[in-house]
Amino acid sequence: VPDSVCIFCKIVAGEIPADIVAESDSAIAFRDISPQAPVHVLVIPREHHATLADMLAAGADITGVFNLATSVASAEGVADSGYRLVVNTNADANQTVFHLHVHVIGGRVMAWPPG
Ligand code: AMP
Repeated sequence: VPDSVCIFCKIVAGEIPADIVAESDSAIAFRDISPQAPVHVLVIPREHHATLADMLAAGADITGVFNLATSVASAEGVADSGYRLVVNTNADANQTVFHLHVHVIGGRVMAWPPG
């Protein structure tokens, strides 16, 4: 998917609205439009990479994404109570947006393994 039609690239560019909760040089965090828990934030790299594997294969640094994700967990008040970071990849995991994103999910007790 080219950057020009990627919905998350449009959020990075400010071309479509999002409820942005945190930003850094390399990543931004915004609330999921269809939250599955009291805390459900997506953290994405500003750069377009379809999947985690693609991002790593490109030699890009994933650290900024995870730094922002843990920072969001603290700011949302779930760092101590607990939260889950999820990276869905491809069809079996129900990846629907092909711009790498880390789900930060918390605020309730979660089942393991996920369905
Ligand atoms: P995934 O299944 O891991 O690809 O998750 C994609 C997530 O993006 C879903 O949880 C959607 O609810 C969420 N989503 C899709 N479009 C938007 C949007 N414009 N703003 C915020 N979240 C979105």
